[in-house]
Amino acid sequence: MTQKITVLIIEDEKSICDFMAKTLGAHDYKTNTAHTGKEGLAIMTSSLPDLVLLDLGLPDMDGIDIIKQTREWSSIPIIVISARSQEKEKVEALDAGADDYITKPFGTFELLARIRTAIRHNNKIVDDPINNNRPYSASGMVIDFEKRKCTINGSEIHFTRVEYKIVSMLAKNSGKVITYDSLINEVWGPYADDNNRILRVNMANIRRKIEENPGEPKYIFTELGVGYRMLEDENLV
Ligand code: CA
Repeated sequence: MTQKITVLIIEDEKSICDFMAKTLGAHDYKTNTAHTGKEGLAIMTSSLPDLVLLDLGLPDMDGIDIIKQTREWSSIPIIVISARSQEKEKVEALDAGADDYITKPFGTFELLARIRTAIRHNNKIVDDPINNNRPYSASGMVIDFEKRKCTINGSEIHFTRVEYKIVSMLAKNSGKVITYDSLINEVWGPYADDNNRILRVNMANIRRKIEENPGEPKYIFTELGVGYRMLEDENLV
């Protein structure tokens, strides 16, 4: 008997909650639902789900507080369900410890892909730190982290040190959105100016080197107002 993956859905809008429960049920996930924050937290501690889908706008609590409270005791993957154009809220949720977000309205494919990615990343961190050093590989691009070398269809791409740091951080977290602030912090350190300009300049240079059409990137995507997301590593899919 295989154990089904359990997903807790905390969402007060009944139609969205039902849609997600039905979709996940049809794809062999077990679901629990909660319509308030308090109920959600209670189910989380009593049934320890494998992943949480969390709406930020709940009647009784701020979703950000749910993330903060959960992170005091658990690293369970949390995917935030957010309305369009609430970039500030998405960044806040990621900074509070959410793993990813999905923007309403979303389709089945996107929902399932985000769930798989979040669960895989969580397992990888817990079980397999060595895996983090395995080369990244997607759509012809290979990054060997030990040799600090990137190739696309066999030809080497020459990055500056800063460009390489940006690309390798995104590649090690491929499939997940990385906020501008956490990238800046990682690359330039905690005392860096939190102005995005230098990051944008570097990203434009990176895209010129790796993308056939920098205006329609296929490796590194912009999540407007939030950060960047790199095409998911094929070894993980
Ligand atoms: Ca809501």
